[in-house]
Amino acid sequence: MPNTIVALATPTGRSGIGIVRLSGGESLGITKKLVNDDGFSPAPRAAHLKQLHEPHTGEVIDEAIIAYFKAPHSFTGEDVVEISCHGSPVVLRRVIDVCLGLDARMADAGEFSLRALANGRMNLAEAEAIRDLIDAQTTASARQAIRQMRGEFSNRLQPIKDDLLNVIVVLESALEFVEDDLPEVQAEGVKTKIAAIAAEIERLASTFKAGRLIREGLRVALVGRPNVGKSSLFNALLGSDRAIVTEIAGTTRDQVHERFTIGDIPISLIDTAGLRETTDMVESIGVERSRATMADADIVVVMLDASVQTSDEDREILASVKDLNYIVALNKIDKVPSTDVDRIVAAENSSLAYLRERLIPLSAKTGEGLDDLKHNIVGPFRAEDVSTSGFLVTDARHHDLLTRAKDEIENSLELMNQKISEEIVLIGLHNALRYLGQITGETTTEDMLTRIFSTFCIGK
Ligand code: GDP
Repeated sequence: MPNTIVALATPTGRSGIGIVRLSGGESLGITKKLVNDDGFSPAPRAAHLKQLHEPHTGEVIDEAIIAYFKAPHSFTGEDVVEISCHGSPVVLRRVIDVCLGLDARMADAGEFSLRALANGRMNLAEAEAIRDLIDAQTTASARQAIRQMRGEFSNRLQPIKDDLLNVIVVLESALEFVEDDLPEVQAEGVKTKIAAIAAEIERLASTFKAGRLIREGLRVALVGRPNVGKSSLFNALLGSDRAIVTEIAGTTRDQVHERFTIGDIPISLIDTAGLRETTDMVESIGVERSRATMADADIVVVMLDASVQTSDEDREILASVKDLNYIVALNKIDKVPSTDVDRIVAAENSSLAYLRERLIPLSAKTGEGLDDLKHNIVGPFRAEDVSTSGFLVTDARHHDLLTRAKDEIENSLELMNQKISEEIVLIGLHNALRYLGQITGETTTEDMLTRIFSTFCIGK
């Protein structure tokens, strides 16, 4: 199988410029054939305007800028050629096809980054940060990704790993050279060190609550019987008319899913089909899916219509969310004489009194109360104790490894307190070191790498 890979590095579709990227030993050879010039010897890191040809017919495919990055001074550490073509999907497809016919093969997802990792151009946490930067939905998550990409996470981990290694060395040499146990004073010193290491890892892991929120955001499910104004709220939150608003009950059959942000938190809002019991097949399926969506959501927004009495259907919906995290959007307050929610509750919807704490009066039509709703959606999820201006752990994989490392270390400390042999204590410490190494990739297995890089996009 050819070892030189090719991929479109820019999105598919029309654009000003589209970039085809090659990496591997044959990159330059393939490029020479593509420009139909065996003597083509591009200076590295310079732009060269060339015509691209179909090798068999000589037909000109495009005029492109070619940039050559000579190994090892490239993203992957191999010979890399970037061909900036005109951004026509047809042209780009042809250029890639020609490369595929000339000893290159299509790159797998993340394969450029995987090669960069293999060639020591970056560590695993840094490669993952590039993926996260590309996937970032908000400035805040892009900012975190850049910090990680520039090595901040690795730099924070290094002293922890060094300290852990020092402790391991002390205990190992005690095993080797000391006839009896480690002297009491020295043992106490080691224990203090171990506790400090565990605390430091814990502190880093605790930033994940805020980090995950910034990166992954929240899933919000919107439920309510037909006509309470779900689509209208949906549109008001998105600031554009993307969902279809209609007067006919039961027409929001399909779940509509949209993304927007509240502050620096990405929100995925799911407008569910009505929860009405129904004999209509299509709608029954929708109802099932709504239930699953609600159970999956971080928070459920139940919508009620303030201008009418609550119905059995409303009550049924409220009963179905009672074990979930939910708030109640009391919509259409522009239609009721009093916008004082206590009076609305008292006068027309006395059955809502028990919900008072969760009620957010609003009008999807006028926009009143929308900010309050947004505030109530994200409020409970913000981590009060962690400032989002510091470095945050944003990846569940990293958090999991930090937690495991911490647990191993705490376990070892406990064993030391029980005066269990150093040999046993060391097992946990070595495990912890291995877990920390998996974050940056030193101790990551091949299978794990394959799994991680499959979450990258092709061409990265
Ligand atoms: P859905 O079936 O829950 O998605 O409800 P829609 O968003 O389609 O709204 C049903 C009807 O209520 C439409 O005629 C909307 O214009 C109207 N509506 C929605 N929200 C409000 C509101 O806050 N105030 C008023 N006066 N009418 C609203």
